[in-house]
Amino acid sequence: MFRSLKLPPILGSLVCSALMLAACSGPSAPQQQGGNVPENNGFLNIYSARHYDSDQEIYDAFEERTGIRVRARESGAAQLLETMKAEGDASPADVILASDAGTLWRFEDAGLTQEVHSQVLDAAIPPHLRDPDGHWFGLAKRYRTIVYDKSAVDPSEVDEFMDLATDRFDDNICARSSSNIYNLSLMSEIIERYGSEAAADWAEGVVGNFAIDPAGGDTDQIRAVAAGACQVALANHYYWVRLATSGASSDREAADATALSFASAGDGAHVNVTAGAVAAHAPNREHAVAFLEFLASPEGQAMLVSQTKEYPVVAGVPLPEGLMKIPEDLKQSDLSLDVLGRNQVEAQQIYDRAGWP
Ligand code: FE
Repeated sequence: MFRSLKLPPILGSLVCSALMLAACSGPSAPQQQGGNVPENNGFLNIYSARHYDSDQEIYDAFEERTGIRVRARESGAAQLLETMKAEGDASPADVILASDAGTLWRFEDAGLTQEVHSQVLDAAIPPHLRDPDGHWFGLAKRYRTIVYDKSAVDPSEVDEFMDLATDRFDDNICARSSSNIYNLSLMSEIIERYGSEAAADWAEGVVGNFAIDPAGGDTDQIRAVAAGACQVALANHYYWVRLATSGASSDREAADATALSFASAGDGAHVNVTAGAVAAHAPNREHAVAFLEFLASPEGQAMLVSQTKEYPVVAGVPLPEGLMKIPEDLKQSDLSLDVLGRNQVEAQQIYDRAGWP
């Protein structure tokens, strides 16, 4: 029902009025806005695991530039994955958008993505931030960090993730569950950098240092550190930035009491991405590639990170309001992010054996 009719615009509109509007505009068809949208050049169906108001602005801007009508379906990544598996080759999905390279790997592993070779994407996005075969492309950067209590911890004590396994943090670590994709991806890099045995030792050490049982999301971990339940926790950088820029004073106080260490996961700060892929059976493949290229343009990049507080992957794009500059001398991991997927199964096994719920 999402498929483009590929009719000339005038004929298309005649057919639409003849068949009545409902037949031409499905439940998620975009509303006409302000007459800025050029003639209908077909459709693009996006399956997105993102949930930001700013994404609608991206879709509107893409429609205005191209005349391609965007239809977005937003849901959790796991649910989108199951939906696409059930739809099989009849899936209307053209583009998949989700956070974490480990998530995109799950779609790729299930045969739900396809290879894309685009000079525009290859030129804009550093090679380690995209799949080597073009199955997905990193579009915005995020860092998994150590959030720490500024009054109790010196930054030098948390400049590596390995620090968390030492006696220094006995009874002082908060964490979320190990099956969370951010924790799996972090472990995937630790396995790659240090080897399986050291990674298992690390997991055991961290579990032994838990102050409380793992629960909640990243924001809960930051709040727990601020409240004194533990001295350190794991959190993606943007959760802290959102608290620091929040309108609620309690959020800003939680950020004030804490700080982030862009800790090394073995060879620099642990980098991950929000990424996009072209679906394996995309009915509108060219539109899908055009959309990813739009997201990799300076304009698309700025819109993509404005609300999420991620970092643009394209050099020279201004940072969104409130996002801290990464120090020039910070060593950042240049691990090829497909490793995060390839080590994912082992990462979960290691956590399970260590007793990290
Ligand atoms: Fe997140």
